[in-house]
Amino acid sequence: MAIIIDGKSLAKKTRENLKKECDELKLKGIKPKLAVIMVGDNSASKVYVRNKSRACEEIGIEYEEYLLEENITEEELINLIKNLNENKNINGILLQSPIPQNLDINQAFKAITYKKDVDGFTPTSIGKLTIGEDTFVSCTPYGIMKMFEEYKIDLTGKNVVIIGRSNIVGKPLIQCCLSENATVTVCHSRTKDLSEHTKRADVVIAAIGKSKFVTEDMVKEGAIIIDVGINRGEDGKLTGDVDFENVKEKASFITPVPGGVGPMTIAMLMNNVIKAAKEQNNQDSKF
Ligand code: NAP
Repeated sequence: MAIIIDGKSLAKKTRENLKKECDELKLKGIKPKLAVIMVGDNSASKVYVRNKSRACEEIGIEYEEYLLEENITEEELINLIKNLNENKNINGILLQSPIPQNLDINQAFKAITYKKDVDGFTPTSIGKLTIGEDTFVSCTPYGIMKMFEEYKIDLTGKNVVIIGRSNIVGKPLIQCCLSENATVTVCHSRTKDLSEHTKRADVVIAAIGKSKFVTEDMVKEGAIIIDVGINRGEDGKLTGDVDFENVKEKASFITPVPGGVGPMTIAMLMNNVIKAAKEQNNQDSKF
């Protein structure tokens, strides 16, 4: 029976520490502030954005929301981003995805200055992560690395199999795990014999978006299982990409959904906003 990695508690502890840091910054006259841009009307995005605004409120980070019409042009979106880049009161800029398909999200991400890129999605942030420079690390991979740290899981020499190669989860995870000396394999929808990869993995990280996709027969005894997936069933319940009830009997560590990776993602976003505020005010300038 696996140890359940309690992302909810770790996230709470992280937010408490960040609140102290935020209070200290305010005593120095620095007010960390996040700008969130949402384009169109997406119900899942609204939930994510609400959770982010609540976390900001709890920590004392100021928060400003820009809700743009579905039919906005790319130029208008990029102009807003450029204005926020220049706005000295804003420390972090977050563009909530997805955005309507007629807008090129990569162009929009590119427009965000890396100094305010608290999601770690700009080419500069990704490049810096790849060459091992200090940068904003994409929040979900960063949260996962913090969970490994908290549970004293050393990745050195471990075979880590990541399922999913998205720009926001799978790809930055490759760099994060490599920098901890893991041997990393990345699988995706074209991978042949996926189970052959997962069965030999010391660590499986599932970021697919398919409910209960990773089953007990796909993992080895004692494997460490990280479930990034968030899938809402017809009954409204959330499930991960891992068949938690059965896989937990075989794994040594496992993250639940909800209460695992999700809360840590938001906590690391808050961490990145505080980092941005410090660096823009020369409190801890590492850039
Ligand atoms: P995504 O962009 O849709 O990527 C999904 C990945 O899964 C793709 O690389 C895809 O392969 C791969 N895949 C799909 N079907 C597969 C199959 N049958 N076998 C092997 N690989 C398969 O998704 P994402 O944005 O990375 O998100 C993944 C999941 O994590 C979603 O449920 C999302 O809601 C969740 N998520 C959670 C958090 C959190 O905070 N907990 C944060 C971000 C995302 P191809 O590249 O070949 O298409």
